[in-house]
Amino acid sequence: MTLPSGKLLLAAALLLSTALAQTAPPAPDRPSAQSAPAVRPAAHVPFTVHLGKRGKSTTRDRPADTKPVPWDLSTHGAKALYLTFDDGPHPIYTPKVLSILAKHHAKATFFVLGREVAAHPELLDVERAAGHHIGNHTWDHPMLTHLTDARIRQEISTGVKSRCFRPPYRDTNKKVEAIAASYHFQQILWDVDTNDWKKPGEAAIERAILRGAHPGAIILMHDGGGNRSETIAALDRALTKLAAQGYSFRSLPC
Ligand SMILES: [Zn+2]
Repeated sequence: MTLPSGKLLLAAALLLSTALAQTAPPAPDRPSAQSAPAVRPAAHVPFTVHLGKRGKSTTRDRPADTKPVPWDLSTHGAKALYLTFDDGPHPIYTPKVLSILAKHHAKATFFVLGREVAAHPELLDVERAAGHHIGNHTWDHPMLTHLTDARIRQEISTGVKSRCFRPPYRDTNKKVEAIAASYHFQQILWDVDTNDWKKPGEAAIERAILRGAHPGAIILMHDGGGNRSETIAALDRALTKLAAQGYSFRSLPC
């Protein structure tokens, strides 16, 4: 018995669509209710990334089909600082941070939460339009090492698309870093923690920035997750003093 040609065509189309679905790459910037796909096998070669002047380096897997990230943060004699802001975007505090950065001709990097971007997508556009760069800080800010592999993948893959990924609470390990690398993310931590989220007062945050500053340093602050008035006041004063010391403020190559 032979199938009518129409049924043959339908069967062939079904086979083809199944095969395509199995080979489709993950979409790292799309929220999805499904569990994220498995870590991509093969086609990865490790390379080393140098951050700052303190000899810190990390390795990641670089997919063979992409060019190396221009990730040399050595500042070639310039006194550059990398200001980073986590947990936004926030409708009240992010615009204030942006205005302080503009006042000081500073570029920065915002490690945003997927859930906050979904709530305030226009703020991400404003950040990008002002020349700042964006990093992935997961969807919902969990402690990643406490999660199953599938949940780690889901948290990372539903955050924003970027070259940079920062684990919430600095809670990471080789598995988290490898899963992030499978989505082409470079894990970025920090050199200077201002502890601004503890609201220790403007002066304490300003002092932390000024004491920690050194050429190539990555400085952690927050524009989301709570009232950031202290951070904003400290940022304005610290940038005035650091600029007078000859520092410039750059975005990470995310
Ligand atoms: Zn955070």
